[in-house]
Amino acid sequence: AGYWRLSKLAVPARDDPGKDFAGVSPPLLQAIAKALKFPVSSMLPEEAFSVTRKSFDARKILKEPQFVYTVDVDVKKLLDLEPRTWDFIARLEPKLGTIEYMPDEKIASDLKPRVAVVGSGPSGLFASLVLGELGAEVTLIERGQPVEQRGRDIGALAVRRILHSESNFCFGEGGAGTWSDGKLVTRIGRNTDGVQAVMKTFVQFGGPPNILVDGKPHLGTDKLVPLLRNFRHHLKELGVNIRFNTRVDDLVVEGGQVKGVVVSDSRLQLGSPNQTLSFDAVVLAVGHSARDTYSMLLRHNVDMHPKSFAVGLRIEHPQELINDIQYSELAAEVHKGRGRIPVADYKIVKSFGEGDAELPEQNRSCYSFCMCPGGQVVLTSTNPSELCINGMSFSRRASKWANSAFVATVSSHDFRPFESHGSLAGVEFQREFERRAATMGGGNFVVPAQCVTDFLSNRLSVTTLPPSSYRLGVRPSKLHELFPLHITEVLQQSIIMIEEEMPGFVSSEALLHGVETRTSSPLQISRNTSTYESTSLRGLYPIGEGAGYAGGILSASVDGMYCGFALAKQLSLFHGDI
Ligand code: FAD
Repeated sequence: AGYWRLSKLAVPARDDPGKDFAGVSPPLLQAIAKALKFPVSSMLPEEAFSVTRKSFDARKILKEPQFVYTVDVDVKKLLDLEPRTWDFIARLEPKLGTIEYMPDEKIASDLKPRVAVVGSGPSGLFASLVLGELGAEVTLIERGQPVEQRGRDIGALAVRRILHSESNFCFGEGGAGTWSDGKLVTRIGRNTDGVQAVMKTFVQFGGPPNILVDGKPHLGTDKLVPLLRNFRHHLKELGVNIRFNTRVDDLVVEGGQVKGVVVSDSRLQLGSPNQTLSFDAVVLAVGHSARDTYSMLLRHNVDMHPKSFAVGLRIEHPQELINDIQYSELAAEVHKGRGRIPVADYKIVKSFGEGDAELPEQNRSCYSFCMCPGGQVVLTSTNPSELCINGMSFSRRASKWANSAFVATVSSHDFRPFESHGSLAGVEFQREFERRAATMGGGNFVVPAQCVTDFLSNRLSVTTLPPSSYRLGVRPSKLHELFPLHITEVLQQSIIMIEEEMPGFVSSEALLHGVETRTSSPLQISRNTSTYESTSLRGLYPIGEGAGYAGGILSASVDGMYCGFALAKQLSLFHGDI
């Protein structure tokens, strides 16, 4: 007996109650009965089955679009009610157990070690949660504002073009992912214990339960903001001291060990009075846009090295056009807005080169990234002289636009012109193209843009540009001249190849926006694999995307969570296995 798992159960989209329904419908029961070779589906006890995954599949090779389910079977309930089911149970695969994180023992309150967690993005929040649960005295230090004020600052940017350098799309409570699409997809394994624990925590703090089941779960900004507020309240209940508007400007290092941090009020000018705070350990969860913090680490000779990432442009189409390309006839139903079928997305990867390790510059991948169906293009600059963009959406993904980053991989070979910056070469490479984009746009956060057809023909768009979701304006520009030729060429070749697979992708309505540079961290801070401690500075724990160990909300959360466990173990907070 126990739990067992059935996967790849297909239900035609026309028979399914729709994307928001995560229960066991009669057509799903039929699919289960078919898989189990059980003759009468209505005799199967509904309560024996629970849906753990539901994805939409509209690939052209299928006869018709379908929802694909993974279902867990409570074998005991099945056996109790239906003895004839016994003979097929042997064929089912056992369900993998999920592990809840539970402290073995908490330490006496008067012995609490003091830990600073710098940054309240997903990695910092989860590190704080675990350390707080396990009994450390945690201070969570965030340069930006709590979500309520951060929302007002982002509003001021969208409406009045006021960029707050410390409270924007990258900095503030929840980190870079707060005003995002909130896609909860990851390459680190959806069913791993870490990811499952993070997803369950999101639900505990108010995330919709269907994210545990949905094949492509996403939250959307409107769901993320209240979730973060609940997260904050829980941390406070645990005794975590949260300090917003507080920037870590320096580390206090004595004898090769971090002993504390120097902080200042981020609302005041640089050089304003600062304060020194003592800690037993410092978790650094600053994200990939904290370039001042990277420079500070360089001054302390912290081991870091440039890392490959990707740069490119953001392409935007009308959502209806993407629905038409991906869904054919079914698109009509999506256009009517009945909400049964999710708006269409896409994922593209193209590889170039022979895979010769000696010639990394000739081996590039080009891929779509952070695709936001029903979303909008937003400004993610943290400095007015640099311009970079990304995409966000609300939970209903109801806007009329579909945007996606379209990027090519770059590596240390590409950063050679910036070698004099040492481990920050990749950061300078990013900065170079962000400055060029700001100049091309003509200032005031206007984004340089080009019709995809003109980008392919290396010519300036002379006709009126198609409309864009970007609120601060677009300007016709020669985006084909923004990057070095070899990068532009792989972007162009990839677009031509995509058109073969997705006819209509190259359209007069498709608009490219510049520039997408902050796809992941341009460097990695070296750390010990099991302890998470910096290899060069004791007491420093670099985590998350900024440290080069994550790329997205889920992987950053998981990294923070496991760092919390590893650090708790070193601080003798508990004795469990990690
Ligand atoms: P961050 O989230 O970057 O958090 C770092 C925090 O540290 C920030 O709050 C910052 O203010 C703070 N900080 C920095 N320096 C200091 C300092 N010196 N002192 C004090 N505080 C400091 N990922 C997805 O998985 N799905 C998506 O749909 C998605 N969409 C995105 C959309 C946008 C617009 C953006 C910008 C990103 C998106 N991402 C998405 C990426 C995702 O947000 C990041 O991968 C994730 O937030 C990284 O988490 P982190 O904790 O490592 O760092």
